[in-house]
Amino acid sequence: MLDVLRKIVQEVSTAPDLESVLDLIVRRIQRAMRTDMCSVYLYDSPRERYVLAATQGLNKAAVGHAGLASSEGLIGMVGKRAEPINLENASNHPKFVLLENTGEEQFHAFLGVPVIHHREVVGVLVVQQQEKRRFDESEEAFLVTLSAQLAGVIAHAEATGLLKGQDEGGDLESRFDGIAGSPGVAIGTVVVIAPPADLDAVPDKVARDIDQEIERFEAALASVRRDIKVVGRTLAQRLRSEEQALFDVYLRMLDDNALAGEVVEQIKAGNWAQGALRQVVSEHVRQFSLMDDPYLRERASDIRDLGRRVLAHMQESGPVDVEFPEQTILVAEEVTPAMLGEVPCERLVGLVSVHGSGNSHSAILARSMGIPTVMGALDLPATRIDGREVIVDGHSGRIYVSPGEDLRSGYQDIIRGEQEMAAELGTLKDLPAETTDGYRMPLWVNTGLVADVARSLERGAEGIGLYRTEVPFMIRDFFPSEHEQYLTYRRQLEAFYPRPVTMRTLDIGGDKALPYFPIEEENPFLGWRGIRVTLDHPEIFLVQVRAMLRANEGFGNLRIMLPMVTSVHEVDEANRQIDRALQELLDEGHEIERPEVGVMVEVPAAIYQVRRFARRVGFISVGSNDLTQYLLAVDRNNPRVANLYVSYHPAMLRALAFIAKEAHKENVPVSICGEMAADPAGALLLMAMGYDVLSMNATNLPKIKSAIRMVSLEQANRLLATVMAMDDADAIQNLLQQRLNELGMSQFNRPVMPD
Ligand code: PEP
Ligand code: MG
Repeated sequence: MLDVLRKIVQEVSTAPDLESVLDLIVRRIQRAMRTDMCSVYLYDSPRERYVLAATQGLNKAAVGHAGLASSEGLIGMVGKRAEPINLENASNHPKFVLLENTGEEQFHAFLGVPVIHHREVVGVLVVQQQEKRRFDESEEAFLVTLSAQLAGVIAHAEATGLLKGQDEGGDLESRFDGIAGSPGVAIGTVVVIAPPADLDAVPDKVARDIDQEIERFEAALASVRRDIKVVGRTLAQRLRSEEQALFDVYLRMLDDNALAGEVVEQIKAGNWAQGALRQVVSEHVRQFSLMDDPYLRERASDIRDLGRRVLAHMQESGPVDVEFPEQTILVAEEVTPAMLGEVPCERLVGLVSVHGSGNSHSAILARSMGIPTVMGALDLPATRIDGREVIVDGHSGRIYVSPGEDLRSGYQDIIRGEQEMAAELGTLKDLPAETTDGYRMPLWVNTGLVADVARSLERGAEGIGLYRTEVPFMIRDFFPSEHEQYLTYRRQLEAFYPRPVTMRTLDIGGDKALPYFPIEEENPFLGWRGIRVTLDHPEIFLVQVRAMLRANEGFGNLRIMLPMVTSVHEVDEANRQIDRALQELLDEGHEIERPEVGVMVEVPAAIYQVRRFARRVGFISVGSNDLTQYLLAVDRNNPRVANLYVSYHPAMLRALAFIAKEAHKENVPVSICGEMAADPAGALLLMAMGYDVLSMNATNLPKIKSAIRMVSLEQANRLLATVMAMDDADAIQNLLQQRLNELGMSQFNRPVMPD
């Protein structure tokens, strides 16, 4: 049975659109369960109705028409109770309503199972028999299992199905939901960027020159043919004849009247070569992987492999010059810092990442650049929206494809309002972040990108609380040399001199991969990350520390910070290495001093060792992004659990207050450099807890300064006392929003567009 289940799910997941998804579901379930009928009803929420969406056994003409109100009939009852209903004879049940013209009257046994996605009933699956009998427990369990697995596929197909209406000539606007990544609104044209060598991520694009696209494809094909022949010849002596025959199979697949011919047809129909290749290859892979014969099923991977080879040759023959529209919205399966660099700064107005969540590093970079961003838009058919107009709402996490005029003008008003607010906040640049009762709160910035320095100075930052040194490492092809690092670091120190610059030692791992130093792990966030990597590679650590110390020569405003520290011995070891680098440089004749070293508290174990760390270093800095992730056991990158990632959780607030107290017991200053400091409510609470410095992205700094200038320390203390007594994260969040409104800060709440 497990095999049947797996096969149905696999087949349904690769179906191209909603209609075929539903059609396959009813056909396969009917066959697997040997029932007389199988139907699926989808919930139409605006009309509050269940509509017959596909059937095997009822009158097909009723599909799309027959339906029941949400509380009507047995279907309504399954939906309302959100649990299966299993009846010997449906028509005897008091809730039974006969659907006219469906042919339903001939059936008696009834089993209805809800289809639930993200806690919401999106439809009902029904099987019926003519005979009167109860479905047995294993049949019920089978249907429940299938329904749970198919719910996501149906919801995804429903969401992408909206686009189909547009493709067929309609100008329906369609909405896709993701997670707010970086606030603000952008209206622009989509450019999809796919990572190299990933056939599945290649978008459809309109071919600008069909002949040239065909030429590109044929040149790549010729190269692949050549490669295969060469490999075949080289291995000829060592292969058995059946194995040699495989090379001929490969070559035949590339024939004009096989794959290649189909790709050329698709190009002639208007798709660019890479998109046409993806289309043809994925259809063949789908067909082969569904075959019963294991030999033929294996051919799916051959075709995928061939497809990748052809793609690689097309990509190698030079990048296709992408034209970036004036208002570019960059869309990718996974936005990376390197991709951000591909779009000219002045044209990049919005970002959408299909994967990732609000605290992924790409979202953090987007916030520091002030680019409206939606993350985790899992249902967005990214490969099919290149060139379309979209609205990116970075406040609510929504994306609208081909928006209508009303929506556009509503959002244009919001954009204007935001521009006015930014101009107003700009006037605070030279004023201190001081409460109405005279408490002065130092505001520093987090940097990483080159452009951050100018932006931070423009906004009146008093120091750098976190320079993410891994960012310049990520946009290269190999580790930068000591000299290159020296130049990069010196620029930061010089630009901010005499203000302090806190450089964090390389923090790779987790969601920060270096293309030239891959770390493949089952559980990367619990794996080889941050200081664990650098202590295992003293050559990398020492080069970086030497570059930092040399860059500081003549300035003296450097501070070094250690990420992902779990144990005291890591601090001791890092201190030893720093001393060693210092001694080496002194011996080489440099006139340098030991900078202050600090420890980040971002692992729960560190909370309880703050005093021990504080005795060994000059400052403590809380990384609330990771601390939230590890304390609440919620992956900061996973959009499925994004609603559970809340820095105002009572456990987090307790931990944050405790850390500040513990550090102060050792007379060591404590700062925060996680995203929490960039939120007005978070900043007020942290100030009241006694944090000595708040470090945040440059974009939000003026907003935080304004919030601090609008309250007294006394008011912030009272707010903290209230939330510390509360039990529930949602209630805390609601209360904070309400208090901000009362304090006259409603402009900092996100603007809301009506549905
Ligand atoms: C943090 O974890 O809060 C932090 C500042 O570091 P990063 O976001 O780079 O992991
Ligand atoms: Mg961190």
